[in-house]
Amino acid sequence: MNKQSAVDFGQRLEDADRILLISHIRPDGDAVGSLLGLGHVLKAMGKEINQVLEDGVPTSFHHLPGVDEVFREVSGVYDLIIVLDSSDISRIGSVLDEYGQPDVNIDHHPTNTHFAPLNIVQTDAVATAEILFDLIETLALPLNREAAECLLTGLITDSLGFRTNNTTPRSFRTAAALQELGADPAVLHRKALLERSYEALLYWGEGLSRARKEDNLIWTTLTLEDRKQVGYPGRDDADLVNVLSSVAGTDVCVVFIEQKDGSVKVSWRAKVGFDVSQVAMKFGGGGHKPAAGVSITGELERVVSDVLEETKKIL
Ligand code: 5GP
Ligand code: MN
Repeated sequence: MNKQSAVDFGQRLEDADRILLISHIRPDGDAVGSLLGLGHVLKAMGKEINQVLEDGVPTSFHHLPGVDEVFREVSGVYDLIIVLDSSDISRIGSVLDEYGQPDVNIDHHPTNTHFAPLNIVQTDAVATAEILFDLIETLALPLNREAAECLLTGLITDSLGFRTNNTTPRSFRTAAALQELGADPAVLHRKALLERSYEALLYWGEGLSRARKEDNLIWTTLTLEDRKQVGYPGRDDADLVNVLSSVAGTDVCVVFIEQKDGSVKVSWRAKVGFDVSQVAMKFGGGGHKPAAGVSITGELERVVSDVLEETKKIL
């Protein structure tokens, strides 16, 4: 941790009474966990806070403490706006459109655009939650069990249960400290990563039935019709991308998820030695070398063919 950034951050917290926390659209466990985790810390400091996720909290994180205090739009007046786990400002959706610029950007994506006056971007952190833990420790901020459960969820989900190759001794040390505060890794892991609805399973079935493999590339699509057919309520891939990435003999996998607004959400996963964030960047998206994403306006078939063409160039 750059000591000066931590001190700057601490000063900004001290100077602010009303603090707004925001994270990205289609929030994952690190987005939700970082948002709620920092929220608990700030509440314990006596701050008035608001937490906003444009898409709300997915059901797999509804067990986390404080989840009822997340809103889908911003209202009120703030002294400090903090954006979490978002590589660029468009990732938060349109919630800040009438509120001007954020003050602090805390993130771990290598594609982060440093969009705020204070950017705390650590690309070697396995999760934004890991950076937050570091800041909380450095500044000796109050960390209770509720905060620990949320932060540990961020760590567990972004590291896929401490399995990704950017998991470090620091990640385990952070997890150990959070467990000592009362967070239960087994329960949090099961709730966030293993448990899924029956509808999600059927949705996988639709996508899996269309999976295609060409050499070391595997991909599939998920359509609006699939979701209607099986009654899947989300607009994500229900983590199907991580199932595809388990197929032997593949280095890169892609899932295309058709959206209501005429766009297609694309998710890439790659083995070590491949950088899918560069492909995502070509389409205006971003992420990490082994995991990246983007939303592209256009018809499903067209997007599939354009994206596969670009993806094949890195294979
Ligand atoms: P996922 O495929 O699970 O949505 O995301 C994989 C990684 O890519 C995550 O680190 C996520 O933050 C990033 N990512 C996903 N979608 C987008 C996007 O539309 N824009 C950017 N910049 N990053 C994205
Ligand atoms: Mn993250």
